[in-house]
Amino acid sequence: MGKPRHAISFDVEEYFQVANFTAQFPRADWDKVEPRIDVGMTAILDALKRHKTHATFFFLGWIAERHPEWVTRCLEAGHEIASHGYDHQFLWDLGQAGFDADLARTEEILMKAGAERPKGFRACTFTITERSWWAFDVLTARGYEYDSSVHPVRHPVYGVPGFDPGISTVHSADGRLSITEFPVTTYPVGKRNIPAGGGGYFRLYPLAITRHVLRRMESLGRPAAFYMHPWEFDPAQPRVPASRSQRFRHYVSLSRTLPRLEALLSEFDFGSFAEVLQGRSAESPNTDQLRDSRS
Ligand SMILES: [Zn+2]
Repeated sequence: MGKPRHAISFDVEEYFQVANFTAQFPRADWDKVEPRIDVGMTAILDALKRHKTHATFFFLGWIAERHPEWVTRCLEAGHEIASHGYDHQFLWDLGQAGFDADLARTEEILMKAGAERPKGFRACTFTITERSWWAFDVLTARGYEYDSSVHPVRHPVYGVPGFDPGISTVHSADGRLSITEFPVTTYPVGKRNIPAGGGGYFRLYPLAITRHVLRRMESLGRPAAFYMHPWEFDPAQPRVPASRSQRFRHYVSLSRTLPRLEALLSEFDFGSFAEVLQGRSAESPNTDQLRDSRS
């Protein structure tokens, strides 16, 4: 068995769309805020090109509608386009019917921009939890093949702490349909899983921790799943008045993201979610994650 290829993804959203800054940037004002998506996307696509790596871009429909050229550029470079929903709402705020409509709207925008119907989905702020488990019924009914929205950690907003941190299969309520769940990577420390798949944690912790986690996963034959955001590659973005903890979460070590991504891309083999999952289906059957165990 060779070393597994790890999955790398970017949630394509603006710095003013993060859940952390909803008070500072109400949705109604988004079109009035200075867009900065070009800065991060340029840095990311250049880095991926230098390292001959394909990634998955989970686009917000809102972004693809206003900047379809970024969908085009990703496609031209051979990257996978997937869905991050339309405008970054928590799934339990959308509700089941609202989520279905949100997915449909985003699919239409992505396809209008030239992408295929998306196979993969990631919810805003990992908001598939036990309170929004119906999301799997919606995703399977719409034909999605994989999801990367469950975060098997303890967190005040999101998280399903008991969930299998590896790749697993989740069934629809009627048991007829299924979808592959590929959570972003966590690492067991004592009885807890700590987040180890990107975001603010990646900027904050020493890179040695990420290297250790990736090597450990390789020794177990398991691919890791990573996520980052374009705004994390934009150290010059405007500073927003916010609480000390909000600012820390958003701005800590932004200048580290790019060199760290490049270090990972040179040391490890990464690919898009579609590439990693396709490579696996033949050799290792997924374990079955029973929905009964969640209710
Ligand atoms: Zn997001």
